Amino acid sequence: MIYSYTQISQYLRCPRLYRYRYLDGWQEKDTRAAMVFGRCFEKALGAYFRNEDCAVALYKEWAAYKDTALEYSKGDSWDRLLQQGVHLLHLFAQQDRIRIPQPNQDLQLKITRTLANRSEFVAFVDAIGEIDGKRYLIDWKTTTSRYVDEPQGLWALDPQLICYSWMSGIHDVAMVVFVRKRLPEIQYLTTSIAEEQQNEYGHLVESTVSQIESGLFPSHSGIRFPMNGCTSCAHLGLCLKNQQLIDSALIRRPGASDLDWLDQLAD
Ligand code: SF4
Repeated sequence: MIYSYTQISQYLRCPRLYRYRYLDGWQEKDTRAAMVFGRCFEKALGAYFRNEDCAVALYKEWAAYKDTALEYSKGDSWDRLLQQGVHLLHLFAQQDRIRIPQPNQDLQLKITRTLANRSEFVAFVDAIGEIDGKRYLIDWKTTTSRYVDEPQGLWALDPQLICYSWMSGIHDVAMVVFVRKRLPEIQYLTTSIAEEQQNEYGHLVESTVSQIESGLFPSHSGIRFPMNGCTSCAHLGLCLKNQQLIDSALIRRPGASDLDWLDQLAD
């Protein structure tokens, strides 16, 4: 078996959701424009670090979806996302705070680790480079609103950063957030993950994998604040046996694809 951060976090969110997604093959339809655009933007960042024209790279990647029926959030459109993306790339170049000296080696790194039961854990790290001259493991995000950055040190509690720190052994980690808004902004959220946190995450992975392999998939349902996970769950239609909801949000890959773990690229 191959596991990833996404799989572990989905099991921890709701084991029933994990079963639907990874065992039964019910996959969320990939039609959210913001998500697809985020992937195109990350490819444009790759072009930037390879000294290519990143605005052209973004246009080329995003043009592939111009005539695709994507779901845009209120006020968004294909053109608007492109314009915001180009502004962010210019701002990023102007600020010039990040260096990736070896882009072919240090972008989209695949890191694997063998777990106690011989299963594999795989992570795709966005980048390893320097922010203001200091070495960090870096994760890119695109979003429409700023990430919270207070109180100080809050990002040391982010499970994805802890996971990547555990996988890579790198303590200094950063989330670089490209905020798509009228006045574009880039947040450089840096933090340090302690060895104790890395080890704790390793134990969490081992115990979660053992529950998965024991076939334990109870639902962790919740519809009221703050445990309202079901209301934002794409698999809600399956739990409610509502065919209309199933058809609108999911597609089924019978037998569950053995490439399911690749979805961590969409995080
Ligand atoms: S709707 Fe709720 S109970 Fe059902 S899979 Fe989603 S989170 Fe779990």
